[in-house]
Amino acid sequence: MSDMLRDLSGDTALFSLNTATVRERWDLAEIIDGCVRHNISSITPWRDQVAKCGLGEAAIRIQDAGLAVTSLCRGGYFPAANAEGRQTAIDDNRRAIDEAATLGAACLVLVVGGLPDGTKDIEDARSQVFDGMSAIMEHARACQIPLAIEPLHPMYAADRACVNTMRQALDLCDELGEGIGIVADVYHIWWDPELADQIARAGNDNRLLVFHVCDWLVPTNHLFLDRGMMGDGIIELKKIRAMMETAGYRGSCEVEIFSADDWWKRDPDEVLRTCIERHQSVV
Ligand code: ZN
Repeated sequence: MSDMLRDLSGDTALFSLNTATVRERWDLAEIIDGCVRHNISSITPWRDQVAKCGLGEAAIRIQDAGLAVTSLCRGGYFPAANAEGRQTAIDDNRRAIDEAATLGAACLVLVVGGLPDGTKDIEDARSQVFDGMSAIMEHARACQIPLAIEPLHPMYAADRACVNTMRQALDLCDELGEGIGIVADVYHIWWDPELADQIARAGNDNRLLVFHVCDWLVPTNHLFLDRGMMGDGIIELKKIRAMMETAGYRGSCEVEIFSADDWWKRDPDEVLRTCIERHQSVV
């Protein structure tokens, strides 16, 4: 479709808002109202925002606003220094699955966790991730909540996720079977020499569950909180979106921007307007 033919105010069907993008200035109720104002049809809330609002209240507000819940962010963080910590993580992930079901979310995003405090053994952390995921698969399948593993850029291997490439995430999916797939987040995967091959592989296996977009700024001033608005960085967004669609992905482009010094400080209405405009012009 030609960009020129698009209605800039109404074409938000394939746009989803990850609520992290405006989380600093709006609570969940304000975000939901903002989505209605800006004609946004889908949302991915974060669990802490949902908890603050109250799970039941959040579910009602989202439903009343007519919003689809493309996913819930997030579960994961399986590795821990001892058995008790690992069990706590498993229990928390089971609750996250229940919350996703209550919200009518299409899936639960998992950031799998990194090295437990005081440890250096990344292979062990990775096997703990496999064990933790194995322990929750049955509950996820029973609740019909697919799990979406988000491989994170390797710079987060120690403290957030020791699953760092799509190949690694898809290998995990293959070991775990049905009811599991991946989040393809351009911020984490744009650099991967296997990008095209692994997106195609994921599509073949029906594992492309979520597509996150933002941009990679040069220079990047903070490892976590300096993500760019689409179009302001060096990621070939249209090219990656085309790979996703060629692989059979028909879901939303979900905008997820952590930006402590820039976008989080701006008027959230301006942020949403910009997200929608950039989604149409550069993604
Ligand atoms: Zn993401």
